[in-house]
Order: sequence, then C-alpha cells, then structure tokens
Amino acid sequence: MLGSLAKWLRITGYDASYARDEKDDDILMKARAEGRVLLTRDKLLAQKAGDDGVFVDSEVIDEQIRQVFGLFHLHFDEKGTRCALCNGDLVVVPKEEVSPLVPPRSLAMTDDFLRCSGCGKIYWKGTHWKNILEKLKRLGIDQDRSFE
Ligand SMILES: [Zn+2]
Repeated sequence: MLGSLAKWLRITGYDASYARDEKDDDILMKARAEGRVLLTRDKLLAQKAGDDGVFVDSEVIDEQIRQVFGLFHLHFDEKGTRCALCNGDLVVVPKEEVSPLVPPRSLAMTDDFLRCSGCGKIYWKGTHWKNILEKLKRLGIDQDRSFE
C-alpha cells in the first residue's frame, strides 16, 4: 500500500524495506528484528506495532511524505540515495562502463553515473532527477546538497 512512499524514502537516502503479500505478524516480527519503524495504512497493524509503528493517515503520496518526514525530522541526503526499486546501495560507476546501456542524450548530459549494487539498475541525474528535487522542495523537505 505504501510502495510509493518506500521509493521516496529510498531516493532521499533512507533504508526502506517494503513488505508485500506477507502476514501482519510476519511483517511486524521482521520490522522489529531489523530495527525498522513499521509504516502502515492498516490501523490494526499500526496498533499491534505500538511504539514500533506509525499509521500513515493519507492515501496521497505528498501527504504521506509530509507526515513521515515531519514526524521523524527526515531530510534529503543526496549522497545517501538508494535504489528506488530494490533499496540497494548505489555505487559510482565509470561512464565508459555504462555507455552501451544509457541513451546517447543522457550520456551527453552528464558524466556521473551510479549503479545499484542490488539489481544493477543505472542511475544518473537527468530530467527525472530535476523533477524529484522540485517535488521535495515544494513539499518543504530540507536538502543536504553537499554532494555537488
Ligand atoms: Zn536496485
């Protein structure tokens, strides 16, 4: 239910696991074992989780970001960005290595490429990245831009 929120947490540098098709008790047990806060839209599960859980009020992603980032005083750590798909660490990869895999337009745009150590997806700061920055700014999320 909160797949989009998980992606935004990963993009902003937070280690976010996403549970699907798992039983409530298993999700909660796993969250506790891994020292995670359980974010859920399920009132009953949030109740069960007690101090380890947070009920996410809204179905709207912008509101979810506002709630969770506000509650935990999260900010956007550009250096810490993780893979939006699988939560893997991103590692810097030489341009030569990715050039066969990236559209020529993107190759011309930047020299900085990252690869997910989990699923292998390649990331770079193109138009999509600009949209991400704009959205976070619009939502009032503090940004640590020391990377640039
Ligand atoms: Zn990945």
